[in-house]
Amino acid sequence: MERAIEAIGEEMARSRIMYSGEGGHMLTFPVAHGKTMNVVAFHHDPQEWESEQLVVPTTHAEARRDFADWGHNVRAIIDLLQGDLDKWGIFDLGDNPLSNFNKGRVCVAGDAAHATGPHHGAGAGFCIEDSAVLAELLQVAWVNLQSGRTRKAKAEVLESVLQVFDSTRRERTQWLVSSSRISADLYEWMDEACGRDPRKIKEELLWRNHKIWNIDIEDITRASNRELGDMI
Ligand SMILES: Cc1cc2nc3c(=O)[nH]c(=O)nc-3n(C[C@H](O)[C@H](O)[C@H](O)COP(=O)(O)OP(=O)(O)OC[C@H]3O[C@@H](n4cnc5c(N)ncnc54)[C@H](O)[C@@H]3O)c2cc1C
Repeated sequence: MERAIEAIGEEMARSRIMYSGEGGHMLTFPVAHGKTMNVVAFHHDPQEWESEQLVVPTTHAEARRDFADWGHNVRAIIDLLQGDLDKWGIFDLGDNPLSNFNKGRVCVAGDAAHATGPHHGAGAGFCIEDSAVLAELLQVAWVNLQSGRTRKAKAEVLESVLQVFDSTRRERTQWLVSSSRISADLYEWMDEACGRDPRKIKEELLWRNHKIWNIDIEDITRASNRELGDMI
């Protein structure tokens, strides 16, 4: 952080900043109680990812080359990077969306169901939403079975739980995967409709982020619990 402050000034070094540009973006924010500035730099590369590994070593020269025509701060930050650098391939399930999260008495949740790119910073949040819905549904099933309110067999009730889980979660989580891709295009001035117009980019990002942030998970679980109640 001390070196970052020297290079780009206190305000920029200590704030959470996204530098946006054609075919790339860079995020910086303070971590470790402000002692370190964390840096993630994204560079759009239309070439196929050649390695079997998702994380491969890269060089300072490659990082400098990818951001050579950026402004002072970004180039200065790249120059500050120390030690070995890694390059991460960004993959998601966008090209292969699952047609169902459930099959009989088995289901997938979290990244296994809807692995997303990182551009909304919401992958783990959506896994937690999945868990909340699933836990509530299982509890409703348990209460109904224990109390004799349902005459259905446990296996059949469980299948219904997972069916409601799928119908509650699939659309929202698969939307996140595609929205994360669109957000990367917005950050990198590659979105056809918004181009490099900051007002349009902001509007587009705002509603997308609000859709992620402004949900009431209790409302969602109440609705899915009702749906399950009607089925069992
Ligand atoms: C670098 C990075 C930064 C991220 N930043 C954010 C962020 O800021 N905000 C956010 O919301 N999300 C973020 N995410 C996404 C988030 O980490 C994931 O969405 C979340 O961890 C997925 O949780 P999960 O439990 O579904 O899967 P995982 O966390 O992948 O857990 C799956 C577990 O299953 C284990 N496992 C796999 N196969 C087997 C097996 N056969 N037997 C037993 N165990 C097995 C694995 O070892 C692992 O522990 C980030 C991800 C990465 C990689």
